[in-house]
Amino acid sequence: MRPLLRALVVLLAVTVAGTAIPTPVGPASDAASDAASGTSWGTLEAQRLTAPTAGETAVRRAARAVREARAAEVAQRRRKQPLRSLTIALDPGHQLGNHNHPRQIDTPVPAGGFTKPCNTTGTSTNGGVAEATVNFWLATAVRKRLRSLGARVPMTRTVNSERRWGPCIDKRGEFGRRVGARLMVSLHADGAPAPDRGFHVIAPTKRAPWTTDIADASYRLATALRNGLTAAGVPRSNYIGGSSGLDVRSDLGTLNMSDVPVAMIEIGNMRNPGDARLMTSARGRARYADAVVRGIRTFLGR
Ligand SMILES: [Zn+2]
Repeated sequence: MRPLLRALVVLLAVTVAGTAIPTPVGPASDAASDAASGTSWGTLEAQRLTAPTAGETAVRRAARAVREARAAEVAQRRRKQPLRSLTIALDPGHQLGNHNHPRQIDTPVPAGGFTKPCNTTGTSTNGGVAEATVNFWLATAVRKRLRSLGARVPMTRTVNSERRWGPCIDKRGEFGRRVGARLMVSLHADGAPAPDRGFHVIAPTKRAPWTTDIADASYRLATALRNGLTAAGVPRSNYIGGSSGLDVRSDLGTLNMSDVPVAMIEIGNMRNPGDARLMTSARGRARYADAVVRGIRTFLGR
């Protein structure tokens, strides 16, 4: 029986029994008096749960038992759902239909003291799987895991469609604050020469006044994500960041426009056959997703 329910049964038993419940003096006499008087199971439970304090009436003891049981349930729920009541924003990079809307995605938007095109088309594997699709798969897998830990997980786009475009990078950057998120992770995959492989995580530089307030926390987030991916055995980039798996950039609107700690993951090189295999297999994506969640939890200390 759940602790709270049990406590309520106890309270009921105590209420029915009034103050007539004898103060327990030990297991042997409990058993004896139970046998003699036909004491109910609920009353015995009441005695067990409400170990007496001097001067405390039976009703008060039962009320305390209810409070304690409720606190135990809350603690248990927290253990099961360590991210409960937290909002974590995800940004699956690009949109599958961006290439169908060149005018919209080429429109300049604010990017942190300069302008940049609203969005780009992203890259693809040699086999023709679009980056937008890999980003979306990965974001969905991460969202599922975060939700099961109790978090609310809004995403900058919730469809992966040839008919849609955007959102623009300024809106992506502003998204975390708009939804009240503690942090945002932007998910991308790179397009580099085929021998290049591995992931890297990008944090914003300190760029006054845009990122001065979030640069340090964002770097901590990027480092936690890097550590999560490394612990999961995902290889670090051999072409950016000098094997640190980290990069710091001032030219990315999604990072510059953010007002919550933010990091962008380039999960691998789509033009590298090994990385592409990982990205396009369910097992590979599960490994990435577990690693990203581990990094987020490390950053949050939960
Ligand atoms: Zn991208």
